[in-house]
Amino acid sequence: MTYSSWIEIDLGQLKKNIQIIRNILQGKLYCLPVKANAYGHGLIEVSKLAQKEGVDYLAVANLQEGIALRKANISIPILLLGAFYENQIKEIIDYDLEVTVSSQYKAQILADYCKANKKSCFAHLEVDTGMRRTGVREETAISLYNFVKDQKHFEIKGIYSHFALAENNSDPFTKAQIDSFERVLKAIKSDKPLIKHLANSAGIYNFKDSYFDMARPAAISFGCYREKIEKEFVGIKTCFSVKSRISYFKVVQEGMGISYGHQYITDKQTRIVTVPVGYGDGYRRSLSNISEVLINGKRYPIRGIICMDQFMVDIGEDSAYVGDEVVLIGKQKNEEISIQEIARLCNTVSYDILCSFNQRLPRIYINKEK
Ligand SMILES: *Cc1c(COP(=O)(O)O)cnc(C)c1O
Repeated sequence: MTYSSWIEIDLGQLKKNIQIIRNILQGKLYCLPVKANAYGHGLIEVSKLAQKEGVDYLAVANLQEGIALRKANISIPILLLGAFYENQIKEIIDYDLEVTVSSQYKAQILADYCKANKKSCFAHLEVDTGMRRTGVREETAISLYNFVKDQKHFEIKGIYSHFALAENNSDPFTKAQIDSFERVLKAIKSDKPLIKHLANSAGIYNFKDSYFDMARPAAISFGCYREKIEKEFVGIKTCFSVKSRISYFKVVQEGMGISYGHQYITDKQTRIVTVPVGYGDGYRRSLSNISEVLINGKRYPIRGIICMDQFMVDIGEDSAYVGDEVVLIGKQKNEEISIQEIARLCNTVSYDILCSFNQRLPRIYINKEK
């Protein structure tokens, strides 16, 4: 390996996660959202594995993610979750993407385009049961459904909604969202089966009655979730590590400032190593002086401000050499720095940390099973 720093994705573990979730879903359809570069894991590699492992659907946030998948020869259905614009309809249809219809207006422009161009496409109706992001309200869902079912220019294939508070398993609002969704399903009299879907990851582990015909768990598919795990989830693990190698070693005397602004001053003579990763790669500057890394299976503190491309680590009186592996996120021997730990230090959620790392760090795919 010739990189100084990289992200390691364990495809063997991802495959295991997918298999476990498929078992939990017990025959319901499995839609894997792969938006935002598959939560930082790599859009194409993850989607290829998902397709091979029998995932039924992929979901993306925007048109260009969907096009990238089709250009990589992904052939399973792809649902575009985000609202579409009129000037995107041609490509949505050309690339065989399924759209979210979230208003009467969207339904109309889609119908108009299909009629004028003698094209057809699949759509999923989105109902807003409490997220208040996109989707029609419960009261208007039925009239919109009746409108779309009666026009023959595109075909309604599914109906869905999205949870806002499902992370909290005791908040009654999620139950209210499920009830609202069920009222809509009851009220629309569909003459053909629709794919009904609601659950995200939190729905999967907190609300077993929210699976309907398909679930859309992403975070948990990537081994990323906060709740205490139940038996059936054992074996699901993260498959995302961030690694680097020591690029420089030096001894620093007592009372010396380290990095920009000298925001850390050594309190004794110590050994400082430099690691070639920084906020330019997505390792947050707010982790300066507070996070740790693993070297030789041991935790060491970051000292001073994290630079764009590098940061410094205090190894005290221990030994480490240029070229030694440094783990920023992941396991080394018996120690682990989890994504959740880094997220807590940044006052954010693990999703945000996964998406922070940009394309400057190459993704290296391994398969620990082999
Ligand atoms: C992102 C997203 C998901 C996946 O959410 P997780 O919490 O990662 O499981 C599911 N559905 C919709 C509509 C989304 O936007």
